[in-house]
Amino acid sequence: LTLTSESNQNTVDLDRAHVFHSWSAQGALTPLVIAGGLGSRVWDFDGKNYLDFSSQLVNVNIGHQHPAVISAIQEQAEQLTTIAPSTANLTRGEAAKRITKLAPEGFEKVFFTNGGADANENAIRMARLHTGRDKVLSTYRSYHGNTGAAIVATGDWRRMPNEYARGHVHFFGPYLYRSEFWASTPEEESARALHHLERVIQGEGAQTIAAILLESIPGTAGILVPPPGYLAGVRALCDRYGIVLILDEVMAGFGRSGRWFAFEGYDVVPDLITFAKGVNSGYVPAGGVIISDEIASDFDSTVFPGGLTYSGHPLAMASIVGALDAMADEGIVENAARIGREAIGPALAELADKHDLIGEVRGEGVFWAMELVADAATRAPLPAPVMGSIKTALVGRGLLPFVQDNRIHVVPPCTVTDDEVAEAMAAYDAVLTDVSKGL
Ligand code: PLP
Repeated sequence: LTLTSESNQNTVDLDRAHVFHSWSAQGALTPLVIAGGLGSRVWDFDGKNYLDFSSQLVNVNIGHQHPAVISAIQEQAEQLTTIAPSTANLTRGEAAKRITKLAPEGFEKVFFTNGGADANENAIRMARLHTGRDKVLSTYRSYHGNTGAAIVATGDWRRMPNEYARGHVHFFGPYLYRSEFWASTPEEESARALHHLERVIQGEGAQTIAAILLESIPGTAGILVPPPGYLAGVRALCDRYGIVLILDEVMAGFGRSGRWFAFEGYDVVPDLITFAKGVNSGYVPAGGVIISDEIASDFDSTVFPGGLTYSGHPLAMASIVGALDAMADEGIVENAARIGREAIGPALAELADKHDLIGEVRGEGVFWAMELVADAATRAPLPAPVMGSIKTALVGRGLLPFVQDNRIHVVPPCTVTDDEVAEAMAAYDAVLTDVSKGL
């Protein structure tokens, strides 16, 4: 690589001069410089180290710079760096075989995309073609990506400046801590959220609804672990009304929940599964749709009207093969489950006991949220400026946090160690102690 001087200052100067950033007013940015990484850590050009408890955008499940994934990409680059999706490519077939082996029975085909948004775009297209219906139901507390239908399926504020796709309807999913249904137990929340969804289906007209699109565990919206019976209940509603169930596993999948797919914990099998992020930890952009045999067979003799230049790109496929093999060989998903159960869960419960600021902790595997409140009784969210100062203080202590609204998401790589968890908990503890004193 021919680069100008490798310094933090030069990197920031080039960035501010020429790089246009996502979801930001461009004038107010001070991006952190990251020059390298390994495992759960990243560092800048001055050698300042950070413990990465964000996994970046909750995608680096295997940790930074895993040697097996790097060498898989290097080997593929030596052999063939790019080839059209219409060709048969051995690495692509190997990647698709591995992904379908992890999926439930009855899922034999994968359509590859460049990331999560276009995975959802294509799943929605398949559902519309399969049913001959138009509408897509999704929750207000969701994020499904930043393209035509995916951003309008999204529930959060990012939808509103982008509402150009048609046929999207939103409803409320379960979230006991801030229940929309006056529920006081998980069972009540589940039953009432299902009743609400059924009424939305009837109100919209079941014959107009192609799909219900849900994150198995809503991620950016707050790591909203579904209450007992909810996902199975949504499956039953889909069956009753002839609706395709799309489960978005882009953030929750490939180890994050402590399982290969998060939905495995909830007694539900969808019709379409979308994935990206953890499938190869983002070493090369990749995503896709895992298609049930029933829907795949629609396109045996009918043309599937969709495609991408880089569908099944060889470097992305090699990184998937490398990542999935290493995750299986090294027990990385099992590590995520264990560390969630034995280390992160208990440590967060202890923090919540100690700090009134923590209203609730919830999660599983390496997928946890601490919900911060100004008042434990009213559950009023901690205001944005205080959250901003918490984020700054954590970064100052060498911890990269994932801060969203009034929450800290505790989302390290699946490879995180007990010592790293202890180090992160000490940083959260110290910063929350300082913030409580300042309030
Ligand atoms: N779906 C979910 C659940 C996500 O969390 C994301 C990204 O954060 C997406 C879809 C979009 O994925 P991408 O940014 O790769 O398009």
